[in-house]
Amino acid sequence: MTTREEFATLHGKWALVTGAGRGIGRAIALELARAGACVVCNDIDPRTATETAALIHLEGHTAMPYTADVSDRHAVQRMVDDVVAATGRLDVLVNNAGVEPSASILEMDEETWDHTLAVNLKAVFLTSQAVGRVMKAQGGGAIVNISSIAGVRNPLALRAAYCASKAGIYGFTKECAREFAAYNIRVNCVCPGVIVTPMTEAARRNPAIMERWRREIPVGRLGTPEEVARVVRFLASDEASYVTGQAYFVDGGKAMH
Ligand code: NAP
Repeated sequence: MTTREEFATLHGKWALVTGAGRGIGRAIALELARAGACVVCNDIDPRTATETAALIHLEGHTAMPYTADVSDRHAVQRMVDDVVAATGRLDVLVNNAGVEPSASILEMDEETWDHTLAVNLKAVFLTSQAVGRVMKAQGGGAIVNISSIAGVRNPLALRAAYCASKAGIYGFTKECAREFAAYNIRVNCVCPGVIVTPMTEAARRNPAIMERWRREIPVGRLGTPEEVARVVRFLASDEASYVTGQAYFVDGGKAMH
């Protein structure tokens, strides 16, 4: 008989986390490893991907760094082929890699728009397709996409491309969940609010922005990467066996306005 603890853990599962070199991605990689998963730590930066894998090894768990640009179709297919050749399976995919360039719509150049949409949205399609084929063949899996409250509820000033890409993830997640349900693959997304990571570092140095955030966030503080990672771990585990096509807000209540 399966115990509740067995549902909650990821023992024996292989997980791929994109953008795992720092911030929320690193916290997710560590959280999944602590729950028993073996984790492939992807990042575009080989140094940080290796650092995250080393942190997981230090805690006595299994991890593998993998450098790849997730917006590059060939690089994604090569990564998935290499991982499956080494592990034999992929049970969990977390699409976390993201960029957040700042520009007004009137000033934004086409390259900025294209790069943001490629890394934040096209990559989610590319990895879901490549990993989805593996999961279908092996009989199931779980995908968790990192969107943002900025795409769904609270647009972020001077981040039109970012907001559009994160709204795209929200829509893609739902249709992906509908299509992949037939293959026993669950697909959900997490919408973080303001989280303490390198991505929000510049804004956090601005006292006026910090003051506004404290007023706007009902719990009165910013979130930590670990608080996002715990929700991702739940959605990746069999504890969430009847949850698919959903968006979970991890935002201290900010997006309920
Ligand atoms: P972060 O600190 O900037 O980390 C993002 C990671 O993704 C970096 O290690 C980055 O590598 C990597 N990356 C960028 N482009 C990549 C590519 N093409 N291929 C592979 N890896 C790539 O950001 P974060 O704050 O942890 O955010 C993680 C995710 O949460 C993002 O999708 C972000 O949009 C979302 N999110 C964050 C917040 C927040 O408040 N922090 C709120 C809502 C949603 P480099 O450092 O080398 O560029």
